[in-house]
Amino acid sequence: MTIQSQTTATLSYADLLASVVPAEGGREITDPATGEVVGRAPEHTAADLDAAVAAARAAQSEWAALGHERRSEYLNRAADAVEASAEALAELLSREQGKPLNGPNARFEVGACAAWLRATAAFELEPEVLVDDDGGRAELHYRPLGVVGAIGPWNWPMMISVWQLAPALRMGNTVVMKPSEYTPLSVLALAHVLNEVLPEGVLRVVSGGREVGEGLAAHPGVDKIMFTGSTATGKAIIRSSADTVKRLTLELGGNDAGIVLPDADPAAIAQDLFWGAFINTGQTCAALKRLYVHEDLYDAVCQALTAVAAQMPMGVGLEETNVLGPLQNKAQFDIVANLVQAAKDAGARILLGGDPDPDQPGYFYPTTLVADIDNDNPLVATEQFGPALPIVKYSTVEEAIAMANALDVGLGASVWGTDLDQARAVAARIQAGTVWINKHGAVDPRVPFGGAKQSGYGLEFGVEGLKHLGAPQVISY
Ligand code: NAD
Repeated sequence: MTIQSQTTATLSYADLLASVVPAEGGREITDPATGEVVGRAPEHTAADLDAAVAAARAAQSEWAALGHERRSEYLNRAADAVEASAEALAELLSREQGKPLNGPNARFEVGACAAWLRATAAFELEPEVLVDDDGGRAELHYRPLGVVGAIGPWNWPMMISVWQLAPALRMGNTVVMKPSEYTPLSVLALAHVLNEVLPEGVLRVVSGGREVGEGLAAHPGVDKIMFTGSTATGKAIIRSSADTVKRLTLELGGNDAGIVLPDADPAAIAQDLFWGAFINTGQTCAALKRLYVHEDLYDAVCQALTAVAAQMPMGVGLEETNVLGPLQNKAQFDIVANLVQAAKDAGARILLGGDPDPDQPGYFYPTTLVADIDNDNPLVATEQFGPALPIVKYSTVEEAIAMANALDVGLGASVWGTDLDQARAVAARIQAGTVWINKHGAVDPRVPFGGAKQSGYGLEFGVEGLKHLGAPQVISY
């Protein structure tokens, strides 16, 4: 395998789209902000899946033989390719997913793809010497697993694909991706750009519905599934992968709690609380989805958050001023609308939003803040995955911790306050894979990320993330 030419092409939006749309047929994908057709996505069959797995398997041993250093060179070249076509990728992502170009949205997501590729290329992974004494020596190595299947959601389609494929490739595996049926073009386009520099067969995409995902999870030629999506689908994947005893990394749904302690400063935290909850218009796995505020500062936090939220422009993604966009699809719009309606019906107080305009095209749901709501209301107890944040009042910190821990999911959580020792003590008692202090949802390629309880298992990112894409092997003598 030789690294191809050093210059990376800058693709226009038209060229990028043309590279992924089939010559004929396919399924129309529409822009959730306007209803306009973005393009047609290929609908791959079971035979296409078999062919992709066979190609990935055929390419794997030569890819593995390159070693870490050469594979890291490829990942860095892949990052160059993403950066060269960043604007076209961001435009396609914005049109297909709905997220605005600006704010922590489409351009940010494409930038994160390059950053994660580079960070994943840079990690050191040395064999661990476990025993080395007169009795003998034992070393722990991480070998490639083989072919990794990567199944992704529609909310951060490009970035989550890179979270799955970058460590898989770095560890000497080849990859078959199955993007969400809602956002296949973004992932096909990303793969097209990456494949400008990667060797043939190392990265394949099969585009289709849940049956293609099921086929990948059950496929005897696939050694591991990296899955990001809902908890219900994660359970289905556990079942369909059981016969082949596949390794699994499951990043599933969450309903992240944030606890504002009595010593917090409402004005100082309002902006970070807002983005913790509303990043990607609330369609983020580890977004703040239920906020617990001490009664002494409840009104002040509600006021400060409302002031910040009311200023955030929502609209069509390609308009440069917007930082919030539509829900990605009608089903998600209906989930959010029904949950807010349930809150209203139960007598909760709407501080902002809650009144979608039936005449507005696109799946826009206004930024919504809901106060004076019970902890068992469905808007609190269910993952809303949209721009609606319930704010629950509490009296004692014990009560807040109990409410935060009451659900069967635990992806992220956050604690907000000025006394760091106290915030750390509360954080230690929350059942979640990550607990942030005075921020929410900030991920870092060097820091492992994963869920507790039914939010999944396995870790992504950092050296721990690499280990999850390797087959541990002990050499003992
Ligand atoms: P989803 O589970 O409906 O779909 C995800 C993917 O799984 C899609 O590609 C889909 O086609 C595929 N799929 C569906 N049924 C399948 C089956 N039986 N076998 C194999 N594949 C199947 O999820 P979604 O609606 O796209 O994403 C939203 C959910 O994802 C939310 O719950 C969110 O919290 C979660 N999520 C989690 C993380 C995380 O890191 N933990 C990140 C993003 C999203």
